Amino acid sequence: MINRTRNRAQQASPSALSIPELRNTFQGNVIAPGDADYDAARTVFYGGIDRHPAVIIRVKNADEVARVIALAKETGMDLSVRSGGHSVVGHSVADNGIVLDLSLMKDLQIDVDGQTAWVEPGLTAGEYTATAGEHNLATGFGDTGSVGIGGITLGGGVGYLVRKYGLTIDDLLAAEIVTADGQLLHIDASSHPDLFWAVRGGGGNFGVVTRFQFRLHKVDSVVGGMIFLPAIPDTIASFIDLAEAAPDELSGIANVMTAPPMPFLPKEYYGKPVIMGMLVYVGDAAEAERAIAPFRAITTPIADMIRPMKYPEIYPPEQEGYHPVAASRTMFLDSIDRDVATTILDYLTSSKASMAVAQLRVLGGAMARVPVDATAFAHRASRIMVNVAALYDQPDQKATHEAWVTEFAGAIQQSDNGAYVNFLGDDGAERIRAAYPGRTWERLAAIKAEYDPTNLFHLNQNIVPAEQ
Ligand SMILES: Cc1cc2nc3c(=O)[nH]c(=O)nc-3n(C[C@H](O)[C@H](O)[C@H](O)COP(=O)(O)OP(=O)(O)OC[C@H]3O[C@@H](n4cnc5c(N)ncnc54)[C@H](O)[C@@H]3O)c2cc1C
Repeated sequence: MINRTRNRAQQASPSALSIPELRNTFQGNVIAPGDADYDAARTVFYGGIDRHPAVIIRVKNADEVARVIALAKETGMDLSVRSGGHSVVGHSVADNGIVLDLSLMKDLQIDVDGQTAWVEPGLTAGEYTATAGEHNLATGFGDTGSVGIGGITLGGGVGYLVRKYGLTIDDLLAAEIVTADGQLLHIDASSHPDLFWAVRGGGGNFGVVTRFQFRLHKVDSVVGGMIFLPAIPDTIASFIDLAEAAPDELSGIANVMTAPPMPFLPKEYYGKPVIMGMLVYVGDAAEAERAIAPFRAITTPIADMIRPMKYPEIYPPEQEGYHPVAASRTMFLDSIDRDVATTILDYLTSSKASMAVAQLRVLGGAMARVPVDATAFAHRASRIMVNVAALYDQPDQKATHEAWVTEFAGAIQQSDNGAYVNFLGDDGAERIRAAYPGRTWERLAAIKAEYDPTNLFHLNQNIVPAEQ
């Protein structure tokens, strides 16, 4: 009988590996403890994650992916899969195990006339968007350019085109995936449709995706950028009301936070509660101005940097070496009125973190028009996605900040108990179930049992294979 939740690292030892042999096999893209680039290669986006893999293998193609999968099976070692390294809990770096690192797989083939692209998972959202942007084409990813297209796509993908064109998975036309038995499968709506359904929201549970095929939309210039408003209950509630009433062309995020010392903010606002709004309007510039005007009229903006821009400019350059340590909770709310906004402000101003933030994203639009069972992302009716987070410096403060985010999330919880898998932390089995409500979980567990019956791909928000 298979132990579906086994910890493979307890059964295996890195001594089963021959690093020199691996170096011969994988053309020098093998990084082991003691190598000069080992520490950089095991570093992920979030700080406070200090895992020591036995080996990191930077694969170049699907054949090498299959060989790493075989290696994990032979040695019984933990296998983690890494694209952009932005997993909230560092799932992509296995302690004492094997890291299958896809970051060298960056091929991108764009069919400009057909408005589709085949792309390997080592590209980041920013890299893909910059290249597609050269043709005035885009696929929607998230709010941050350095996030890998591998992880964001497999969990769903909520970004600046979500109300106009839906989630990233709503533009996923096909994929190629190496499953636990080492086979490379082409999956789409008619070929392995069950697996194609599962990878659209079910994360990295079903195999290693070596290529995605996306639909591209004509997106040339947009009107977008940051707007800062003072955060009081009325301004927060108004911002959310306006975002809900806005046309689908407008998607955005309201980050309610204490103002960091940004050079473009007047000094008297540093440390005061602000809304850092990020708005993107895809469409006619004059209509964009009309849609954005009510946000500017909520109150006098502290700073207004919204302007016409090329779509790829939504991803500005990021700070090198930025690795925040964070405690966070993700949830959905039905509404944010003055009372909820007051609670949000009370919690933010009571936090001892170096930065405390409530990130509010109004959903709806195209995302909500996809049938709930069309993909494994089952939160089509959810209204507002909320992430509350404390970013802190001292690892020994973890308990304080974890308690704060837990209490904060509990204080604003409403009737929607769901969770978006890509923002889940180490929140336990119950919250993973909440990411896959109703029939979604049973369907995913059955597909997992078919394609990964031994739970080889378990370093993720894990879907345990159904009993067979
Ligand atoms: C700063 C920041 C901003 C973010 N903003 C957004 C946002 O706006 N919208 C949004 O939807 N999400 C957002 N996210 C969440 C993000 O989508 C997830 O963290 C995602 O998993 C990151 O993907 P990655 O490839 O960079 O991560 P990785 O850590 O490399 O991968 C995460 C997991 O995904 C799986 N995986 C990755 N690639 C593959 C593959 N090719 N085949 C099989 N499995 C794979 C593996 O299980 C892996 O452990 C954000 C995260 C961060 C840190």
